[in-house]
Amino acid sequence: MSGRSTKDWQTADAAHYLHPFTDFKSLAAKGSRIITRADGVYIYDNDGNQILDGMSGLWCVNLGYGRQELIDAATAQMHELPFYNSFFQCAHPPAIRLAELLSEITQPQLNHAFFTGSGSEANDTVIRMVRHYWTVLGQPQRKIIISRINAYHGSTVGAASLGGMAAQHGQGGLPIPGVEHIPQPYYFEHDGNLSEHEFGIECARELERRIESVGPDNVAAFIAEPVQGAGGVIVPPDSYWPEIQRICDRHGILLVVDEVICGFGRLGAWFGADHYGVKPDLMPMAKGMSSGYLPIGGVMVSDRVAEGLAEGGEFFHGFTYSGHPTCAAVAVKAIEILRDEKIVERVHDDVAPYLAARWATLAEHPIVGEARTRGLVGAIELVADKGTKARFQPKGKAGEIARDLAVKNGVVMRHVNESLIIAPPLVISRAQIDELVDKASKTLDQTHAALRG
Ligand SMILES: *Cc1c(COP(=O)(O)O)cnc(C)c1O
Repeated sequence: MSGRSTKDWQTADAAHYLHPFTDFKSLAAKGSRIITRADGVYIYDNDGNQILDGMSGLWCVNLGYGRQELIDAATAQMHELPFYNSFFQCAHPPAIRLAELLSEITQPQLNHAFFTGSGSEANDTVIRMVRHYWTVLGQPQRKIIISRINAYHGSTVGAASLGGMAAQHGQGGLPIPGVEHIPQPYYFEHDGNLSEHEFGIECARELERRIESVGPDNVAAFIAEPVQGAGGVIVPPDSYWPEIQRICDRHGILLVVDEVICGFGRLGAWFGADHYGVKPDLMPMAKGMSSGYLPIGGVMVSDRVAEGLAEGGEFFHGFTYSGHPTCAAVAVKAIEILRDEKIVERVHDDVAPYLAARWATLAEHPIVGEARTRGLVGAIELVADKGTKARFQPKGKAGEIARDLAVKNGVVMRHVNESLIIAPPLVISRAQIDELVDKASKTLDQTHAALRG
């Protein structure tokens, strides 16, 4: 679908298309970037400009664009059985096979899959599942789910309530009752005198303090992303997750690890929980599950929770597209490619260490306060003063300038306030990492000049 001028697409776009997470009026004035095709790690706009996709679409196209096997899997399944539901005592091979495969690649206690169409629906499922679970176990007062400030868990009413984004809560009467938010383990923004190790422990103890203040018998679960993605690629100190695990175990509350970004190899392990050595009871997932080729999400459920739910009669929850056969067939193929081509191992052994070394060089730049990576996610903290970590004003402006310059320089990076973040496809080569870092470096020079300007 092409053949119209960029101006023409932009005019029709502004007239009819309401974009997600967008200021409609300001975008209409500026005009969208019209992306028309993609191949490997590159996207192309309507004018033929090639841009390195440093964000894997939206943290999802982990295998890169144009994988013929995924296209073939979808085509074959659409011929065979494009849609059927899993309600009313029915099932079909792609959904069964996907559940089985997920049980194989996840930790031993996770052997049951509930499917959804997205990560937000996966997290809504988590809310209903954990509360129902405790009710079945005779503890219906356990309703509270503890999450974190600046967490991102999706955009439905439930998922955005779990999330800790003040801007989302400010629209639509959120959060729903029974969700608590504790501080995030964001060491760069910590201005006290704790070491990184101490800070990690201290942040985790916020969970224990909150459990105690709301009453341990009222808490159903704690939910967190292994590395916060949309919040700005916030990598917790290594001391954080073991302490979180200890606290959840001690109080018997369910640990929910949101793997929507970190799952399927992003951190150089199959899942973020594996990377950090924690044992989730529930694991919501989406994005990389099908490498973004078709919409699908789900929740991996532990034996403990599945056994509890089995005693609860009918679980009144599900979606028309739960386990959609075409989406499931593509997810199966995407996971098989990750496994058979040893892509997760390659990220761990080669690509992530290479990115870490190259990305770290950006920290020398005069407007960079920190350049961090973990696996194949990374962030740059922009600062006006390296010594004091003072930020540019007004908030978000420097990030936006840099983001726009990056695209002009031929690389997609995203900005979250004063951070520039990346999450390139897992199949990126060393030469393409060099290109990414060179373009980021040039962007920083230009941003510096523009801010002095
Ligand atoms: C993107 C995201 C979600 C929401 O997924 P959607 O498919 O956009 O609904 C949930 N959790 C995390 C950690 C995410 O990054």
